[in-house]
Amino acid sequence: MRDFAAELEHRKQAGLYRTRRQISGPQQPALVSDGRALLSFCSNDYLGMASRPELSRAAAESMASNGVGGAASHLICGHHDAHHQLEQRLAEFTGRSAALFFSTGYMANMGVISALAGRGDTIFSDRLNHASIIDGCILSRARVRRYPHGDVKALEELLSSTDGHKLVVTDGVFSMDGDVAPLAELARLCRVYDALLVVDDAHGLGVLGPEGRGSVAELGLSETDVPVLIGTLGKAVGTSGAFVAGPRLLIDYLVQKARTYIYTTAMPPAIASATSTSLDLIRREQHRRDHLDGLIAAFRKGASELGYELMPSRTPIQPIMVGDNWTALALSQALEQRGLLVTAIRPPTVPEGEARLRVTLSAAHTQADLRQLLNGLAECRQILDAREKQAV
Ligand code: PMP
Repeated sequence: MRDFAAELEHRKQAGLYRTRRQISGPQQPALVSDGRALLSFCSNDYLGMASRPELSRAAAESMASNGVGGAASHLICGHHDAHHQLEQRLAEFTGRSAALFFSTGYMANMGVISALAGRGDTIFSDRLNHASIIDGCILSRARVRRYPHGDVKALEELLSSTDGHKLVVTDGVFSMDGDVAPLAELARLCRVYDALLVVDDAHGLGVLGPEGRGSVAELGLSETDVPVLIGTLGKAVGTSGAFVAGPRLLIDYLVQKARTYIYTTAMPPAIASATSTSLDLIRREQHRRDHLDGLIAAFRKGASELGYELMPSRTPIQPIMVGDNWTALALSQALEQRGLLVTAIRPPTVPEGEARLRVTLSAAHTQADLRQLLNGLAECRQILDAREKQAV
């Protein structure tokens, strides 16, 4: 038997032990934890859709007529009208021929990558890709070559020296840094070197591009440029699940081959109904994205003026770089004492020595909420100063 206790103790000593926080009530932006009200800056509900009454109503109406559970897998008897309609809406929303609805983004990445690449093929994966992409690559049994983050030159060198089937996979917006992948360049390279491009736009969908159609639509990249487009629905869309969109043939193939689609119970139809409602609202409500952009600009200005180190991100993901695990934890705890919830992100989620506070902004925040965060950060600045002095 492995010594589990020793492994956990080691994590604790290194400031890497992770705990779960129990919360109650609506999740964004104000929540209750341990009986205390906290203002949250760590949800992925970027547009504040998760608590919208329109979505709850759609889910409740669907549950009243369709029941609660998913009942069976899609290929047995779980494929409901609500799923079918959502897939049509997702295809239209992303400007793709067809779409396939998965139960989670993790499963979408695992299922799609392992269905599209196998032994003898090569996958090229950005070094900062999400864990579910990394695991999908491992599951595929293909050879995996990781390229330095966003480095199209390095990728080109790898592509040009590799034969056989090639697949390039990248986050659209990187989940821990908030920057956008060089998608136009990646699409060009994939054309030149005959590689299949897979983009996971989990964090761009709803937020970037015309009508919130994502980072791929923002650049006007078509189905030919980005044949495999993955998106998750538990973030800006405010519900749950994920999808892959692309050519009809690809979707037909995945229905046969993606094991995480085939061998799992279908999502409750109510979630699909609420998601369709959310997509309609997201397309119409540009004012939410405009408000969010205003918050992002104000945060960046305020936090930089306080001397915090930010990343070059124009998205709601705005990490404050700290470096050391314990300092990141100390900052997060000090903010919490001031009623602000901002999570410390540590390895292995981010590379060693790059611990950070992952601030996420949402259209549900007000300018007053943002001022509260900046005031908290101003008061906590001394924690960083003291640690920096100690390090000198
Ligand atoms: N892709 C990316 C880029 C993500 O950040 C995440 C989750 N945070 C996922 C996929 C997984 O999505 P889900 O939470 O729906 O499993």
